[in-house]
Amino acid sequence: MVKDKRGRPLRDLRISLTDRCNMRCSYCMPREHFPADHPFLPKSEILSYEELASLIHAMIPLGLEKVRLTGGEPLLRRDLCEFIKLIPSELDIAMTTNGLLLGKFAEELKLAGLKRVTVSLDAIDIETFQVMSDTKANPETVLRGIESARLAGLKVKVNTVIRAGYNEHSIKAIPERFLGTDVIVRFIEFMDVGETNSWNLQEVVTGDQMRSMFDHLKSLEANNIGEVANRYKFGNQEIGFIESVSKPFCNDCSRARISADGALHTCLFSSDGHDLKAILRMGASKDDLSKAISTIWNGRSDAYSEQRGSVEHTKVEMSYIGG
Ligand code: SF4
Repeated sequence: MVKDKRGRPLRDLRISLTDRCNMRCSYCMPREHFPADHPFLPKSEILSYEELASLIHAMIPLGLEKVRLTGGEPLLRRDLCEFIKLIPSELDIAMTTNGLLLGKFAEELKLAGLKRVTVSLDAIDIETFQVMSDTKANPETVLRGIESARLAGLKVKVNTVIRAGYNEHSIKAIPERFLGTDVIVRFIEFMDVGETNSWNLQEVVTGDQMRSMFDHLKSLEANNIGEVANRYKFGNQEIGFIESVSKPFCNDCSRARISADGALHTCLFSSDGHDLKAILRMGASKDDLSKAISTIWNGRSDAYSEQRGSVEHTKVEMSYIGG
């Protein structure tokens, strides 16, 4: 089990399968910075499923337990289910999606071995949904996708980014929509990810502010070390709060991220990654890869959220490393 400089294990791997997306959420991929002719990664630069599987196999001896498939929008990547079948089933396999294509693939994903899906949904009223996602898409499509995922037997969480002045009404509306279901709703504080989302503290609604809108919230234990959400019971429903700005959780962060072109990032707010594609394509063995990744992780000391405001570097875009 490899540990970083703060004794944190490498337990979770988030894999960005593509830097492309069929939405332009203003807090992640604002259209003015990601127009239709944006120079996305060329196919030749993107790791193949076999290459990604090699990296996963190299990380299991280091302590890897969970793999989360992300993007951009992972369901835009072809034959995704073939990749899921390459991932050892003893790992906890999850995916984060915007849900627009979920209805089409839910059953196939489950059969391929996916266990859990997190759907990003910032509003259920069409006006706010279209403003937040900067698309003409309909939230009903996402809600139908969620229903298909539930019927397929996938465990579903809904992640809602709250941005002051945009969607505070979602704090009540979204839990109400899933009342009586096993869908867990989690609210995310608006974060200063990347360099393009015009972040400012005034637009952050903190977890404490959100909780003050609920009566009789009962705090719950974390499911595991390194869990990002602070869990609460609201009636029969579970609600979570991901509070990277007001309550940083770097202390037990065990998350590594790989971009679609094979750069290993040791923090969501990192600048440069470590190029694993080069050694992969030089024919590195599984042991070579394990050694290289182990050395990178041993040198890790990231804790951006604890240091926010005192560290200056150009941050990688979230859509490039998958949130
Ligand atoms: S800021 Fe970086 S180190 Fe801290 S929890 Fe987030 S990803 Fe982990």
